[in-house]
Amino acid sequence: MRASDIPGDFDHVLYTEEQVASRIREVAAQIDADYAGREILMVGVLNGAVMTMADLCRAMTSHMSMDWMAVSSYGAGTKSSGVVRILKDLTKDIDGRDILIVEDIIDTGLTLSYLVQNLRSRNPNSIEIMAMFRKPEVVTCPLDVKYVGFDIPNEFVVGYGLDYADKYRNLTDVATLAPHVYKS
Ligand code: 5GP
Ligand code: MG
Ligand code: MG
Repeated sequence: MRASDIPGDFDHVLYTEEQVASRIREVAAQIDADYAGREILMVGVLNGAVMTMADLCRAMTSHMSMDWMAVSSYGAGTKSSGVVRILKDLTKDIDGRDILIVEDIIDTGLTLSYLVQNLRSRNPNSIEIMAMFRKPEVVTCPLDVKYVGFDIPNEFVVGYGLDYADKYRNLTDVATLAPHVYKS
């Protein structure tokens, strides 16, 4: 759905479906150039990175395979709990592989720092990060993020895989919520 399908739920749209799609194509081209001739193991972080992964890998020409992890750092609300737990681990061995972590958004960076540290101990050849969104004002853990879709202000956003209480992941635009949504 588009933000215009349920306008009352949103405060403002940060990026339209078209802007997201166009940025995805740019990042895909950058990744293809950087990994020329190598096979990438893309590791998506569930559930938020599902849309980014689906669009990004289809815009790429590199050989790639896909695996998924699920970690928890947020509950149903909008604030980080500071706790990172692996809820679902990779199914593949990453020894010697070139890993590209695909993440929806970097807020404090806590989740990703933990993940990178964890994956590094499994001896991959390389690890890079692609995050669709990043909040540079918030990032507290220093992270070397090679690919960023958009740097955004410190606002809670939904859409393109990002949820509020597990809703709005199917919004194709990226928007902030109207205050009444948090209260209901
Ligand atoms: P971090 O560990 O970087 O603080 O938080 C990472 C996770 O928090 C993201 O993968 C995402 O699930 C959630 N998160 C952080 N900021 C936002 C936001 O603005 N909107 C939504 N929907 N989730 C967010
Ligand atoms: Mg995430
Ligand atoms: Mg969430």
